[in-house]
Amino acid sequence: MNDIKVAVLGSDGVGKSALIVRFLTRRFIGEYASSSECIYRKRMSIDGRQLNLELYDPCSQPCEGKSTLNEQIHWADGFVVIYDISDRSSFLTAKAIVHLIRELHLGGTKRDTDSVIFLVGNKQDLCHMREVDREEGQRLASEGRCQFYELSAAEHYQEVVLMFSKIVRNASLG
Ligand code: GDP
Repeated sequence: MNDIKVAVLGSDGVGKSALIVRFLTRRFIGEYASSSECIYRKRMSIDGRQLNLELYDPCSQPCEGKSTLNEQIHWADGFVVIYDISDRSSFLTAKAIVHLIRELHLGGTKRDTDSVIFLVGNKQDLCHMREVDREEGQRLASEGRCQFYELSAAEHYQEVVLMFSKIVRNASLG
């Protein structure tokens, strides 16, 4: 059975845990108490194939030898890079992460690199407080050859499931 590793990256507070927990449990948890558990495992069937998904949430503390961003990038087959549309600084962090992934993990390989980085603008329900235009997100996505989503862990359960299912499928083909 294939093991697929997906790292969920972004600044603190952008909703990494909220998105993962939403995907895995259907529930949106307002205040999720991050535990020391950073790897979530799920058995999935994609296109009739059984996969073991490992989702890595870097919490705040080092875990399983992947304490630096470089280590997390080397570990993963696929990446979900998240920013909060109501927080411009989180977008700048996402931009730096996308560039680092391209440079470290994907640069120079023959692998189809265009399908395994997803850029996600989360908290779309807070669009009245928006600090990052959708077009800016789209621009960064095309610059970094990422697939782009704007969604809300709080309100868009179906989109969250679709997004994670798609990154798992793409990463499993890589
Ligand atoms: P992490 O540090 O990236 O793992 O972020 P968390 O998942 O802990 O979320 C940080 C805060 O943002 C929490 O209070 C969440 O409830 C909140 N949050 C996460 N996603 C959303 C969303 O889509 N909409 C809104 N309004 N709040 C969200």
